[in-house]
Amino acid sequence: MNELVALVKFYILILTGKEQKKISDFVQHHVLMFTCDIKMLPKMKYLINMLFPSRCLICHRVSVFSTFICRDCFLELEIFLDMPVDFTRDDMSWLEDVVCVYWFTQELQILVHHLKYKQADYIGRFLGTKAGLLTKHLPVSQADALIPVPLHPRRKRQRGYNQSEQIALGISQIWNIPVHSELTYRKVHTSTQTRLNKEERRNNISGVFGIRAGQIPPAHCVIVDDILTTGATTCELGRTLYEAGADKISIITLGTPFTYLGIQFSPDIDETYEIDTHI
Ligand SMILES: [Zn+2]
Repeated sequence: MNELVALVKFYILILTGKEQKKISDFVQHHVLMFTCDIKMLPKMKYLINMLFPSRCLICHRVSVFSTFICRDCFLELEIFLDMPVDFTRDDMSWLEDVVCVYWFTQELQILVHHLKYKQADYIGRFLGTKAGLLTKHLPVSQADALIPVPLHPRRKRQRGYNQSEQIALGISQIWNIPVHSELTYRKVHTSTQTRLNKEERRNNISGVFGIRAGQIPPAHCVIVDDILTTGATTCELGRTLYEAGADKISIITLGTPFTYLGIQFSPDIDETYEIDTHI
């Protein structure tokens, strides 16, 4: 009897604890992998969802809308669809358009944190698809290719994937244009840029990108990144693509913490989540 009570207590603990999602994913993956009868799969999936319901990463309530965000929190994401700061400079005549899809609110910050540091690559594809739908009417969706900001190979090995590439794959499904992930590469492993100002970021990032041998960029490239802050990284990649033969460069990011006048939008951001957008 004591064992049964302990088992129930353990079950309640894993359902309410922080590790619930990890355990749920683990059980889903392993049980479904060993389900030999294909007809049983939907039933098994249903059963596992009953025992280990998906919870929203933001409000922690059970979610049927998706496996990581509930409908209410998804609707809380604030759509921006604009360029936060005027990027146009004399030496950047190649810049066609800049679109930041959402404001970098606390909700988006939690999602981006999980996308970058908690192995949740599916968040990139999910938000990429939503970003694609929200921007499908804009001229930028008629470009020739999507170019994710490349990670240094060491960083990509650590993370297992490039978060910008995951976002680009989601956008590509809606815009119906290709993702050119192998066109560019990052030469230098830059450390975090969070604590650098705009000028320091620009100097720190100068010359870090390269174009792979024998590759020619398409005429209109859309650079994809997670969050746009000073734009130092995306503009440097844009310059590299332009010098390699692209005519026009646009930029699309999931979010930005800046408002129209370049003033930092200040939601109640949890300090434990660094903005840290350029690594
Ligand atoms: Zn929620």
